Amino acid sequence: MSRVLLTATWHFGRLAVERAFNLLEQGAPALDALEAGINAVELDESVQSVGYGGLPNRAGFVELDAAIMDARGHRSGAVAALRGFRRPISVARRVMEVLPHALLVGDGAADFAREQGFEQEETLSPSASEQWLQWRETQAPPADVEDNHDTVGMIIWTPDTIVVGCSTSGLKWKYPGRVGDSPIVGAGLYADEAVGAAVATGDGDEISRVALCARVVFLMEQGSSAQDACDEAIRYLMRKRSDEKGTPPHAAVLAVRADGDFGVAASYAKFPYALHDGHSLTMGERDAIVST
Ligand code: ASP
Repeated sequence: MSRVLLTATWHFGRLAVERAFNLLEQGAPALDALEAGINAVELDESVQSVGYGGLPNRAGFVELDAAIMDARGHRSGAVAALRGFRRPISVARRVMEVLPHALLVGDGAADFAREQGFEQEETLSPSASEQWLQWRETQAPPADVEDNHDTVGMIIWTPDTIVVGCSTSGLKWKYPGRVGDSPIVGAGLYADEAVGAAVATGDGDEISRVALCARVVFLMEQGSSAQDACDEAIRYLMRKRSDEKGTPPHAAVLAVRADGDFGVAASYAKFPYALHDGHSLTMGERDAIVST
């Protein structure tokens, strides 16, 4: 197989990368591999922050965000606050391929998914429902911020392709209608054929406020390595958005430059990610950046 690099966020990134690599080996196009890899996580009920199994908003509804970007042609599609469909990345891909629009939200996104033949399904898993019922008793804010959210974000690079996508149920117990960084081009993901791609995970409100992934790609365009660009973009977020005690927002970013150079940075300790270089898959762990 010709040169290839796949990377994805979190422990469940392994599932996405394994599925995608499998398809690439069988000759599938990178976009198909990316979609299938992300679908694998979306359909895994045990993952409580993506697709089916994701934790609901305050009102008990699972609202899903996803986006996909094909660097070739600078094409993108996204859905946000989508209810009733378990594979939002596939709906996002259809937005990219069928509509002139970049993002559909809420009822419009669901109508479009139905029109396109996606099956409407229950998205609230029994476990998510039980947790929500318990939370409703106290309505306490999530105790552990790390436990509050996650996104599957994946980049597939080959010498002539860069595709990037992400999918999440967002923050648990979020306000209905809240949209995070994941479906926003420039915030949760970005790709430029001549430069490279980036994808983020973490506190999506803060990631959006600094257009994190656009910044990573811009820094690579200015000549930074993928690693330096990730480090500098996370430092920027920490400088701009740490709280009065100096605690930074939770965020991590993966990037691949157009020449295959890879980078990863996080604002907190032990961010896990999957990386496949075409020969083997490794699980990496990134330490936090401490100085801004
Ligand atoms: N960025 C996602 C959101 O805020 C959650 C995460 O990746 O942790 O919706």
